[in-house]
Amino acid sequence: MTLKEHHEEALQLDQRDPLGHFRSRFEGLSDALIYLDGNSLGPLPKATLARLNQLTGKEWGGDLIRAWNKGWFDLPLRLGDRLAPLIGAGPGEVCFGDSVTVNLFKLTSSVAMALPEKSTILTDDLNFPSDHHALEGLAQLRDQGTHIIRVHSRDGQTIAPEDFTRSIDEQTLLVTVSHVCFKSGYCQDLQKLAEICHDQGTLLIADLSHSVGAVPVDLNRWGVDMAVGCSYKFLNGGPGAPAFLFVRRDLQEQLKPGLKGWFGAESPFDFKMNHVCAGGIQRFLTGTPPIISMAAIEPGIDLLREAGMDALRRKSVHLTQLLIHLWEEFLQPLGFELGSPGNPSQRGSHIALRHPDAFAINLALIQPVEPWPVIIPDFRKPDNLRLGFAPLFNRHSEVVRLVQRLVHIIETNEHTRVQAPSGPVT
Ligand SMILES: *Cc1c(COP(=O)(O)O)cnc(C)c1O
Repeated sequence: MTLKEHHEEALQLDQRDPLGHFRSRFEGLSDALIYLDGNSLGPLPKATLARLNQLTGKEWGGDLIRAWNKGWFDLPLRLGDRLAPLIGAGPGEVCFGDSVTVNLFKLTSSVAMALPEKSTILTDDLNFPSDHHALEGLAQLRDQGTHIIRVHSRDGQTIAPEDFTRSIDEQTLLVTVSHVCFKSGYCQDLQKLAEICHDQGTLLIADLSHSVGAVPVDLNRWGVDMAVGCSYKFLNGGPGAPAFLFVRRDLQEQLKPGLKGWFGAESPFDFKMNHVCAGGIQRFLTGTPPIISMAAIEPGIDLLREAGMDALRRKSVHLTQLLIHLWEEFLQPLGFELGSPGNPSQRGSHIALRHPDAFAINLALIQPVEPWPVIIPDFRKPDNLRLGFAPLFNRHSEVVRLVQRLVHIIETNEHTRVQAPSGPVT
């Protein structure tokens, strides 16, 4: 089949796509743009505009400080309950606030305070840099005997749960990994890893940033103890939207937050000088929640709930499988290598294609060139073109157009003529 024939077939798949209608619920998407960065900054849901208008106009603008008692104060926990079914958590197990990095620090420092005799922190070298930074800070803060073990990925893309077994012993304070790795898209088997951790008497903290909203997550069934995750990626919560954290219910009362603040204290408006932990998940809140950006998260969560994680996963697998299929036939001969697992059960919702000229190819995709749509992927050093597929709005035909465009760029050497960009974000 030619790419043109693949494109026609993909257009038919789009017509029959049961999730196809969700695309029109977002701002900024058009046939002139193929947005493959929903895993980096999700687009703006139309419902979020209306929510923000109400929040700024009526609540902040009209109710002023009275709005705290009309839903703002409860928002971090209420939103957590709203997200809970998407990650297999129960009510009262999730709260929103701060960034992923801060939340990881809050949880790891809580465990560190509870288990002062344990001295090693286990993670892997596929985990996100900021997660490593937070762990490094905790180790430095704690004492010189605390150290981090980074389990090494043999192929630079995947890491089997069993690879952790050898490094866990009675000194292990905790194990923390990304559910879906930010570069290769490898999806860790959290259930298996939780089993390994528990067999050896340690706790597992998962970072769901690249899986929440794209891959079914079942924290309680899998036995994951704690988790953190991002809301500006597949949750479409907006730039810098606050992150979330999960603590298994029966662990909550055993842990005291390592980063304390008045919103995590019992009755903050008693203004007591000493910190008495609030009950439940609330104790992991710190300072005043950023209400505007937090309120902007809810419509995105609602879209995912309406679509259903099973349907979303089914489509996500279709999209990434289609790309891998086309890569084999059309892109591999042009020097592209697959930087992600070929097996869909080991993969999240993005694909990394590796090419020595990936940086220049990335720039060429983004430039408007008639008659092509602008295509926005990510570049991740050293040679990864990272292509995120958000099943709420990406289409099968976009996958084929992407491949057509890549073939055209390489065949015409267009990437050798692109201008270097400005700005720090790639
Ligand atoms: C995006 C991402 C983060 C983001 O962290 P912030 O502190 O919220 O900026 C953290 N971890 C992973 C795995 C990510 O993909």
